[in-house]
Amino acid sequence: MRKQIVAGNWKMNNGLDKTMELLSGLKTQVIPEDVAVIVAPAFTNLYNAFESLRTYPIAVAAQNMHQATSGAFTGEVSATMLKSVGVTTVILGHSERRAMFWETNEILAAKVDTALENDMTAIFCFGEELEERKNDNHFNIVKEQLQEGLFHIKAANWDSIVLAYEPVWAIGTGETASPEQAQEMHKFVRNLVSDAFGNDVAEKVSILYGGSVKPGNAAEIFSKEDVDGGLIGGAALKADDFMAIVNAFA
Ligand code: PGA
Repeated sequence: MRKQIVAGNWKMNNGLDKTMELLSGLKTQVIPEDVAVIVAPAFTNLYNAFESLRTYPIAVAAQNMHQATSGAFTGEVSATMLKSVGVTTVILGHSERRAMFWETNEILAAKVDTALENDMTAIFCFGEELEERKNDNHFNIVKEQLQEGLFHIKAANWDSIVLAYEPVWAIGTGETASPEQAQEMHKFVRNLVSDAFGNDVAEKVSILYGGSVKPGNAAEIFSKEDVDGGLIGGAALKADDFMAIVNAFA
């Protein structure tokens, strides 16, 4: 069985006080053994989050990192810095990074390499914009994002990769892809991985869905065969909502 994963992307929310408060809320709850739970607070709170969760089955991820490991990159954070505070998972290619911070497939390919060279797990995000779906171009866009940003890796590296399909039109909009739309794209992606890296790799990789997942719709989305969990934005900022989603697997 594939690993079931629920990851909370806190984005640019929560200072240190609120971070610790939210983590305390999560720590009062029981984490199901068969779900890997991840939270991604802001850079400034990663160290405290990691320390707070040291003995608790919730992993801490960064929301981004630079592709270089050190040097004259004012304002950036590297893989080695993340690892120095205990963080070994990083979200790469979130649509907000792509759209607002000019992250191209080429830059993301370099970031993926850096993550792998540093033995980190990358949650690789991809997904089409509304216009692209309307033009029936969503499969092509997703294929291009994966082929240019990720598919240069070796088959052996897939153990360190989690995929996250996030249709841009469903992020923070309250509009969710239907479970059928999610399944259709996840199946398409698994087939792409299979064609390029073989069926074993494709069957093992977890593909998360992201975009307005809430306690009320998580169970139906997660029930789909090729949906292995979620990358949660807004609903990850409330402990009860996030834990309801963590518990939404059948
Ligand atoms: P949302 O965000 O759940 O608020 O739509 C998802 C994401 O951006 O990862």
